Amino acid sequence: MLAFRCIVCHERFDFASGETAVVLSHIAYGYDFVHDRHESIALGWIFVDPEYDRPEFSHDPLRARVLDIARPAGWAAVMPESAERVDAGYFVRLEALRLWALVEYRDGSRYLEGLVRDPEWESEPGGAEFSEGERGPRDAVDYASPSERTDPVRSAQWGAIVHARYRGEHTPSSRHVPLLHFPRDAARAARTA
Ligand SMILES: [Zn+2]
Repeated sequence: MLAFRCIVCHERFDFASGETAVVLSHIAYGYDFVHDRHESIALGWIFVDPEYDRPEFSHDPLRARVLDIARPAGWAAVMPESAERVDAGYFVRLEALRLWALVEYRDGSRYLEGLVRDPEWESEPGGAEFSEGERGPRDAVDYASPSERTDPVRSAQWGAIVHARYRGEHTPSSRHVPLLHFPRDAARAARTA
């Protein structure tokens, strides 16, 4: 499982004690996460680059914070293949998740989302990616459980979604995975109810 740390102090988040991780979007790359108490420090960093020279991090317009994380348990993101591969009849590839994140959106809704982080970018700012991204044509179409990875019926369904996307048709956003992986969160919600 991926080490999930604050980009400022490099400490883990103590989700069990109610700490949460603020989601930050990197100006050039992916995402990172920060303690509430370190948020203003990260937002003050400047990305020194001839092309940018502007703040390195900003808030994500969609995702506010991560409330908890869980082991990926063999699940994978179902990613669309490149146009060339689709033309050749290969529609999706599976990318192993590094962890599950319980994400609170700015509208208060909560989703379980898969997170990936290339080992090469493990310690680099902006190295994390939400597989579902902005739910665009290049983002994940679904998640595959360990038993679904080699299921021909599921493969055909995923292929149909990618095919429809390439034709510009409306396709469902990623599957909403139930939040059952998070007994801690359920306990917290019960306490505050
Ligand atoms: Zn911190």
